[in-house]
Amino acid sequence: MREIHVYDLIVVGGGPGGYTAALYAARAGLDTLVLEKLSAGGQMALTEEIDNYPGFEEGIDGFTLAEKMQQQAERFGAKSAYAQVERMDLTASPKVLETSEGTFHARTVVLATGANPRELGLPYEAALTGRGIAYCAACDGMRYKGKTVVVVGGGNSAAADAMLLSRIAQKVILVHRRDTLRATKVYHAPLMQAENLEFRWNSVVTELLHEDKLTGVKVKNLHTGEEDTIPCDGVFISVGRKPATELVQGQLELDRSGYIIADETTATNLPGVYAVGDVRTKPLRQVVTAVADGATAVHMAEEFLAGGV
Ligand code: NAP
Repeated sequence: MREIHVYDLIVVGGGPGGYTAALYAARAGLDTLVLEKLSAGGQMALTEEIDNYPGFEEGIDGFTLAEKMQQQAERFGAKSAYAQVERMDLTASPKVLETSEGTFHARTVVLATGANPRELGLPYEAALTGRGIAYCAACDGMRYKGKTVVVVGGGNSAAADAMLLSRIAQKVILVHRRDTLRATKVYHAPLMQAENLEFRWNSVVTELLHEDKLTGVKVKNLHTGEEDTIPCDGVFISVGRKPATELVQGQLELDRSGYIIADETTATNLPGVYAVGDVRTKPLRQVVTAVADGATAVHMAEEFLAGGV
C-alpha cells in the first residue's frame, strides 16, 4: 500500500491570512501546502487599490499584492495546489481534506476561507447577476461606463464602491437604510463632494425591475413608506459579507453570524485547527489584521506540533 503524505500544515484559502501563514510555516521549516480554489488573494485580489496596508506609500492593487504574498511564501518552499475543498475531517489524526484534486492529509490546518458578499435576497437577484446585478465595483464597474448605477449599503465597501463608480458611471445613487454612513470618516467628504452622486437615505430596494436584464429598482423610504422607481443600468450590492464556513459546520464552533469562534490566538475548539482572517470572530476585518492572524496561527501550530497546546 502506498504511504500517504502528511503535511505539517495545510492552509485552506490563499488570501492574505492564508499566504502569511504559509510564509511563516515554510520559513519555520514546516512542510506546507496552500489549497486555493482559483487564484491567490481572495477578496483582496478584487480590491482596486489598497491604501491602508503599510509599506506601499502609493497604494497597491489587491491582485498584485496577492501575487507578491504567494511568491514570498513559495520562495521559502510553501506549495500551492488549485483545488476545491469538498469535505474535511478535522478531528481525525492526521486531519483529512477531500478536494476536487484528491485527498490531502495534515497534522495541522489553518482555515483562511474568508467571507463572500451577502445578497439582498430579492426575487430575480441571482438570475440578474451579471445582467445588471453586481457585487464588486472593482471587477465589474467598467461595464457601466457612462451609465446610471445604484449602490446599496452604507459601510466601507459601499463607500469605496460608490467612490470608484462615481469616476466611471454618469450617475451613482447610493441607497442606504439609515440616515448616516457606517463607513469610516475618510470616505465622507469625497462622497459628499462627488457631483454625480446622489444619496437616498432611510431607503431600501424592494424590487428589481427587469426585462432580459435589469432596467431599474423600486426603492421604499422607510420613514414615509413612499415607494418610487429609479431607472438604472446596474445595481452594486455592498451590504456586507457572509463567512465561508459551510464546510466546518458541525465540527467547529461558529457564532450566530456563522464566523468561526477563535480569539487572538486563532485557536478553534479543535486542537491543531486555526482560523485566520475574515472567517474568524474579530472586531476589524482588514488585510493588516488577516496577516497578523496568519503569523499567530503558525506560532500556535508550531507549539502544537512540538507537543504543547
Ligand atoms: P459592513 O461594514 O458590515 O457594512 C454593511 C452595510 O450594509 C451597512 O451599512 C448595513 O447597514 C448595510 N446592510 C446590511 N444588510 C443590509 C440589507 N439587507 N439591506 C440593506 N442594507 C444592508 O460591510 P462591508 O462594507 O462589506 O465591510 C466588510 C468589512 O470589510 C468591514 O470590516 C469593513 O471595515 C472592511 N472594509 C474596509 C475597507 C477599507 O478600510 N477601505 C474597504 C472595504 C471593506 P447598517 O449600517 O444599517 O447596519
